[in-house]
Amino acid sequence: MTYPDPASRSKAAHDRARASLPGGNTRTTVFMKPYQIYAERGEGCRVIDLDGVARIDCINNFTSLIHGHAHPALVEAACAQMRLGSAPGLPTLSEIDLAELLCGRVASVDRIRFSNSGTEAVMNALKAARAFTGRPKIAKCEGAYHGSYDYAEVSLETRPETWTQGPPASVPYAKGTPQGVLDDVVTLPFNDIDGAVSLIRAHGADLACVLVDPMPNRAGLVPADRAYLQALREATREVGALLVFDEVISFRLGYGGAQPFWGVEADLTTFGKIMGGGFPVGATGGRADVMAVFDPSEGKPALPAGGTFSANPVTMRAGLAAMELLDHAAFERLDAMGEKIRAGVDEAFRKAGVPGCATGKGSLLKIHFTDRPVRDYRSAHLGAAEAQRQAAFFRALLNEGVLMASYGLMALSTPMTDDDLDAILAAVAAGLEAAKA
Ligand code: PLP
Repeated sequence: MTYPDPASRSKAAHDRARASLPGGNTRTTVFMKPYQIYAERGEGCRVIDLDGVARIDCINNFTSLIHGHAHPALVEAACAQMRLGSAPGLPTLSEIDLAELLCGRVASVDRIRFSNSGTEAVMNALKAARAFTGRPKIAKCEGAYHGSYDYAEVSLETRPETWTQGPPASVPYAKGTPQGVLDDVVTLPFNDIDGAVSLIRAHGADLACVLVDPMPNRAGLVPADRAYLQALREATREVGALLVFDEVISFRLGYGGAQPFWGVEADLTTFGKIMGGGFPVGATGGRADVMAVFDPSEGKPALPAGGTFSANPVTMRAGLAAMELLDHAAFERLDAMGEKIRAGVDEAFRKAGVPGCATGKGSLLKIHFTDRPVRDYRSAHLGAAEAQRQAAFFRALLNEGVLMASYGLMALSTPMTDDDLDAILAAVAAGLEAAKA
């Protein structure tokens, strides 16, 4: 069955869903016109929809699955915990096991606090930085997505017509963002050392932290220059602010996450996605003295943090199983898979005569329909004709049997075979022909 089809079961589900869910589902990111495709199940690296159509899954729940769907070790870990009770309401050993694994893998992390989403992980990091420094402001990069906490959403989208007016303005993403939030967020240009450092110095006395994703997906999925992250490290030390790495996505880049590759250590790091083994998860970790803001052992902590389902043992056990499968050899293979697909996509653009390229690193890539060098949010921003080609490509890929995010993001997973990778590249070639038409 090709998409869209009036007889599709997904269309029927969408029509039904609109009566109880705004727009027919719970997540803006998965909304599609004329209807969104509903999943029936996932198996390995494939998702099968309600009409029985199987597609190679290059979304992997927006990068949060690294072992595909229903991996036997993860199913077993989660089911074993379910049999012991899913939420005993007391701490469990599973929480210590996963905390020890993460502290053991990420050198800058001495202590961990679990939560239920990457959004909460970032929110807790920003609140911890404010509690620790006693300062109100945070800085983040233009176009970088850090979840839906209102401070973290500031300047997620800026308008091209404002780009000639000096440093990026702090603009709301969602309607209803209070002015006080905008006043306390400084927006930094990504991969621009002078621009970022001068803003950090200008706001230094009020700045609690600088929040940075070393490879921000929405801002182009371009790896930060090492010198840029080093400059943020030095400038934050100089003004007494904390450096926070958002590794909710980039933790899937290597055994110890992103920090060993860039050679920069953060004061606080946020985690989520893959470390929950397919269940909702978040975690904030970092230096013991900063993480002490969460410590209730001497009375009310500087930052009381709750979360009825935080450190849920089903999540912890599935997360542990997922992380244990990720040894150095697994990352080497994922890196090689990513290299193959990025090179194949670049080659497909050349062969098709369509302007475009792939960015990314490790098992992550993003497909850009532009011949500009992509370095940041602004250079990644598509014009109307480019966006039209991207939309046609996305639609064609669906009908070629490959799921990717509509904005060009792809995440690879360990169950993918060489044949699957070849099938992805064949679909990309066919998709580019469709985008040209
Ligand atoms: N930080 C980054 C870098 C993300 O990509 C995301 C989600 O995509 C988040 C934070 C928020 O995570 P969650 O969707 O689990 O709230």
